[in-house]
Amino acid sequence: MTHRREPPATVHSLIIVLGDQLDMNSSAFDGFDVTHDLVWMAEVAEESTHVWSSKQRIALFLSAMRHFAAALRASGKRVHYTPLDAIDNHGSLGSELEAAIERYAPQELIVTTPGDWRVLEMLNAVAERTGRALDIREDRHFYSTVRDFKAHAAQRKSIRLEYFYREMRKRHDVLMQGGEPLGGQWNYDVENRSSFGADGPGAVPNRVKFAPDETTLEVINLVNARFSEHPGSLESFAWPVTRAQALDSLRIFIDERLALFGTYQDAIWSGEPWLYHSHLAAALNLKLLNPREVVKAAESALAQGRATLASVEGFIRQILGWREYVRGIYWTQMPKYIERNALSAHEDLPSWYWTGETSMACLRDTIRQTLQTGYAHHIQRLMITGLYALLLGVRPRAVHEWYLSVYVDAVEWVELPNTLGMSQYGDDGLMASKPYVATGKYIDRMSNHCAGCRYDPALREGDRACPFTTLYWDFLMRHATRLAKNPRMALQVKNLARLSDAQRAAIEQRATAIRRGEIG
Ligand SMILES: Cc1cc2nc3c(=O)[nH]c(=O)nc-3n(C[C@H](O)[C@H](O)[C@H](O)COP(=O)(O)OP(=O)(O)OC[C@H]3O[C@@H](n4cnc5c(N)ncnc54)[C@H](O)[C@@H]3O)c2cc1C
Ligand code: SF4
Repeated sequence: MTHRREPPATVHSLIIVLGDQLDMNSSAFDGFDVTHDLVWMAEVAEESTHVWSSKQRIALFLSAMRHFAAALRASGKRVHYTPLDAIDNHGSLGSELEAAIERYAPQELIVTTPGDWRVLEMLNAVAERTGRALDIREDRHFYSTVRDFKAHAAQRKSIRLEYFYREMRKRHDVLMQGGEPLGGQWNYDVENRSSFGADGPGAVPNRVKFAPDETTLEVINLVNARFSEHPGSLESFAWPVTRAQALDSLRIFIDERLALFGTYQDAIWSGEPWLYHSHLAAALNLKLLNPREVVKAAESALAQGRATLASVEGFIRQILGWREYVRGIYWTQMPKYIERNALSAHEDLPSWYWTGETSMACLRDTIRQTLQTGYAHHIQRLMITGLYALLLGVRPRAVHEWYLSVYVDAVEWVELPNTLGMSQYGDDGLMASKPYVATGKYIDRMSNHCAGCRYDPALREGDRACPFTTLYWDFLMRHATRLAKNPRMALQVKNLARLSDAQRAAIEQRATAIRRGEIG
């Protein structure tokens, strides 16, 4: 690595930089003293094994960290960096940090708020054990602070994305005109829910690919050797690992995909993982990109007439709305949130979630794509893999661990509320006002999967019944009392009255066979 400088003999502040804090403008660097301060970064096995992290996810984090350390050194900062394969690597963030504190005897530790509750706890424990002051700084990457979110939540009976998002639009003057939403509406969901016609999506722009450089190739070899049993493969690894590459990804998304982002936001097509999505979540979550520059780029495209308001609003809602909202939920609800299981779900996650070996075409395609690339878009995550686990009754914690393992953009503050809350209804409606449940007919409407599947999405009983459809009715029957109290579910629950006793028995029997792994 270039411009290596020896660590100072005495260190005043040890600046802790975690794998998802790769931002030169991070608050941890405020007041950095090049003579007396030292940046600390470490690759440790525990971060790849506390959940069974996929090869794509591990490689992305390690490569981006190595590139960031090189950029820090090039900017004149001293960096203590422990590679994964260092002989004296202690294997966990806590023990590695303690060893560095012993070696450099810093007066204080500085860190920007981490993305995981678990890591925050560890940092506090290390500071206490070593008798060092720990300065935990605000993460100004985000538009809102956790305090802002708390203040917003305190004014309402229930917290809902829509009102939080409107407040964010006003406060940050995004897509506003004279105090009103630009175009007169806050929301263009009705225009943003198209599926592709029978002919499919046609020519979709190619995925932006970054060929692995020497550093990334080293990481790929290391991950293949050290984590050979972990899920997925690295053959297609092409994620942005530097800020320059992340900026290129943003520019190309705005030029090639944003115009149709809104229209096809919910659409799914077999063998087409990338469609019109941005694929920017990993770069955002590693902090290689700032959400403000992403939102500004989308606003400029609108001003230049390169994308419609519906598309731009649909995109900005995800960043300024959902992304900030789930962070607020995470930090106001942890640590108890991760244990929540409102529906008392107790099944294990089917083992084929780790291989894609199932006869259900939609799940097979989504899981294989996930393992090959570390990516699936929102509706695949919510209405295919998430929906199936919810209907089956899998423990939310097991579902959470799968999502945290397999996606390159998975960091707990964003993954957990999306999985446990939005997708599994484990938080009893804190995130979503009703469980996102549907039969296979929803998947049929939004994709072409069912045409190539051995099951029929319209059938709930019999040999060809789609497991989603059977399990949907089984879910309503199992949770009828609770769901009947929710006005947004009342109509769905009412339909149960149309089932005869024989039909109910047939559904239950088939659902049991699915849970035993005899079908699917
Ligand atoms: C069960 C489940 C698990 C998820 N796990 C993660 C995760 O680990 N990390 C993650 O970043 N997102 C997660 N999401 C949200 C969303 O699915 C991903 O952000 C998105 O699919 C990433 O692809 P993209 O960058 O192409 O997003 P796009 O569709 O292009 O959306 C643009 C950006 O908006 C943001 N965004 C969109 N939806 C959400 C959302 N619901 N919550 C927060 N930010 C959002 C992301 O930063 C994303 O890059 C999850 C959703 C579900 C249903
Ligand atoms: S029939 Fe059911 S299992 Fe098969 S692809 Fe459609 S929704 Fe998926």
